[in-house]
Amino acid sequence: MIYELILVCSLESWFLAFALHLLQRLQIHYNPPIAILPILIGADHPALRIKTKPIAKVTKKISKLIKDMEETMKVANGVGLASPQVGETVRLCLAPINGKLTALINAQIARSSLETTVEEEGCLSLPNTWVPVRRSTEIVLTYMDESGKKQERRVKDFDARVIQHEVDHLDGILITDRAEKVS
Ligand SMILES: [Zn+2]
Repeated sequence: MIYELILVCSLESWFLAFALHLLQRLQIHYNPPIAILPILIGADHPALRIKTKPIAKVTKKISKLIKDMEETMKVANGVGLASPQVGETVRLCLAPINGKLTALINAQIARSSLETTVEEEGCLSLPNTWVPVRRSTEIVLTYMDESGKKQERRVKDFDARVIQHEVDHLDGILITDRAEKVS
């Protein structure tokens, strides 16, 4: 009788320990599913007009936001996306560097070339709107990468244009504010 009780007790505690271990493992490996976020629309939307706040550290929340934004941008067929477009207020955007989509944390344009070109630009937040925008052809960009390292890149042409468009979003500026007057 006593032995049976001990056996049951030890079996129970073994089971409890195993269940706890399983739970811990699940928590460690549990990744919330990637979400497609709604893109905010309209030149008058207040969320698109805020100046974003710098990110001190790449937290799990920031990494998740990057993944969600990447997926949202792909589904919307965009070439870049900035956090205010999905209702976030952190200084984060996605844009290509040498054709590779890159998460740019605390993106800043350190220098821009005097040479400029005017091209038609669209924006996921302004559907069916195309406006001519003057941009520098070459920029020096500083940002923090996903591992938290500071980076500096010289970027040209199309990629430089997209980055300037996205960094504008981080300061609450839209293409309609920059539309070139066509005479
Ligand atoms: Zn845009």
